[in-house]
Amino acid sequence: MSELVNVVVYGSAGRMGQAVVRAVLESKQARLACALVRPGSGLADEPLERVFGALPRNVDFSTSLDPDTPCDVLVDFSGPVAFDAALALALERRVAFVSGTTGLRDEQRAAMERAAQTIPVLWAANFSLGVAMLMRTARRVAELLPDWDCEIIEMHHSRKQDAPSGTALALGQVVAEGHGSAFAERAVFARHGQVGPRKEGEIGFAVLRGGDVVGEHTLVFSTAGERLELTHRATSRDIFARGALAAAIWLARRAPGSYTFDQVLAPPG
Ligand code: NAD
Repeated sequence: MSELVNVVVYGSAGRMGQAVVRAVLESKQARLACALVRPGSGLADEPLERVFGALPRNVDFSTSLDPDTPCDVLVDFSGPVAFDAALALALERRVAFVSGTTGLRDEQRAAMERAAQTIPVLWAANFSLGVAMLMRTARRVAELLPDWDCEIIEMHHSRKQDAPSGTALALGQVVAEGHGSAFAERAVFARHGQVGPRKEGEIGFAVLRGGDVVGEHTLVFSTAGERLELTHRATSRDIFARGALAAAIWLARRAPGSYTFDQVLAPPG
């Protein structure tokens, strides 16, 4: 492996994919090996200039990864439909796999765990530092205030496909862990009509969609007479892209296994 980490971006015409490509082009530790777009994309075989202006590069958008292209890590921000092919490509090339795709089915998560026996794998619902801190804080608050109610509000842009967001689900998961309860038994995704009083221990989700909101999450911990709200607001996709690239550089030199973004931020020992 050369000093620079060779990064292949999967889904590079998308909102997140473009942010990751830009982060790689600006990085001193990584090199853009290939910018993959979906078959039939209008950007196929077009120079990167068409999207990224005058940054230094000599790579075109492409619909396939040339076998001779050096590759250390594949970064996927495509979507659940393309995810299987992205993982298969990383396995075929035996390279590290970083994915931020949300809305994955259980079978897809299981396939990623199986792949981790062969390649290093890191998936995160959210690659921002602020949300990583929010996750840690949420777990701690839930541990310290197990009797308080907790509900989660999220808002995203109008074109988001999955709901609640992967980040909201991950926050619900850590709150349930902090409470020592099973998330699947506590999550409530809809309330409509005569639903009656809130059941103890429920973790309710409220989902808002509109405009160009990059991503906002609020945890509301409440009890009689007081309420604690923890909010994270993302105003730029660059935060996710930088986090995903840091994860990719960290992962590229690891042994096969399943890793978390928390490990990237605070490596053990
Ligand atoms: P998007 O629709 O803008 O981008 C997805 C791109 O993938 C599109 O350009 C699409 O053409 C492309 N694609 C589809 N099939 C492909 C294929 N076979 N090969 C190559 N490219 C293919 O979506 P987005 O807003 O960029 O979000 C992408 C994913 O990332 C979503 O699941 C979203 O929820 C998630 N996301 C994660 C984080 C995080 O930090 N983990 C942050 C933001 C978004």
